[in-house]
Amino acid sequence: MIKLKYNQHIINKNLGQNFLIDSDVIRNIINSINPKKTDIMIEIGSGLGALTTHIHKFLNKLFIIEYDKHLASRLFLSFGNVNSIKIFVQDVLKFNFSCIEKKNYDSIRIFGNLPYNISVILLLYLFKYDNIFDMNFMFQREVANRLVALPGTKSYGRLSIISQYHCKIMRLFDVYPRSFRPIPKVSSTFLRLVPYKNQEHYVKNIHNLEKVTALAFNKRRKMIKHSLSELFSENILIKLKVDPRLRAENLSITQYCILSNYIS
Ligand code: SAM
Repeated sequence: MIKLKYNQHIINKNLGQNFLIDSDVIRNIINSINPKKTDIMIEIGSGLGALTTHIHKFLNKLFIIEYDKHLASRLFLSFGNVNSIKIFVQDVLKFNFSCIEKKNYDSIRIFGNLPYNISVILLLYLFKYDNIFDMNFMFQREVANRLVALPGTKSYGRLSIISQYHCKIMRLFDVYPRSFRPIPKVSSTFLRLVPYKNQEHYVKNIHNLEKVTALAFNKRRKMIKHSLSELFSENILIKLKVDPRLRAENLSITQYCILSNYIS
């Protein structure tokens, strides 16, 4: 089997390796993140350092996380002597983001051209932390569309509700496949997610929001009086001012929160 290489690195597809090569896109990312000396930043998946090289010059402290050992040794070669950079060679899904806080930083800013295969699971992992100021991430376009989707649209679903419950999400710009090597089959979009300090919506128990949305969207085309019948009678839905004839995609986040709080 032919091994695909970029810049003398053998691509590991399982780690979602598509390296940014477009200097306009790199500039757009840095400008939109707008790094400041006092920011404590963490980059997820630094790869060959396409973003690291530029952004670290603006910062006093940058933590970078890279899982691939070959790439990590290249990062040590490039940045091992840079005092402001600390390199972690580990799986970001096992990284303890509170360990940064213990070192007296108020809140952290995270960014990255994410490996697409773990982007959703990573977001759900990051939502558990309360010391994050913002997250600036490249996503597969389809996932970005789901993250920002509004009720009544095709992309609106559980991911939109859970993510918009936790964060204010801004779509920054789209990126073409040709900006990466190897060229991916999908297009990308860069988003900013800012976790709410004071929750815009409130649920007593987040697991109930997960449960209600799972039931509703498992039977997306059914009216909620049927899909949610296990949890709510038609009368209760009416009492909670949620029209029982609506379908999962027509309920607002506030309505999902009301339903979740009722079963809490
Ligand atoms: N930042 C580089 C760039 O823009 O060119 C590389 C981006 S590439 C899309 C994703 C990077 O994340 C790769 O370097 C990959 O090895 C790394 N990665 C994949 N899974 C990871 C994980 N679980 N934890 C940390 N890094 C991971």
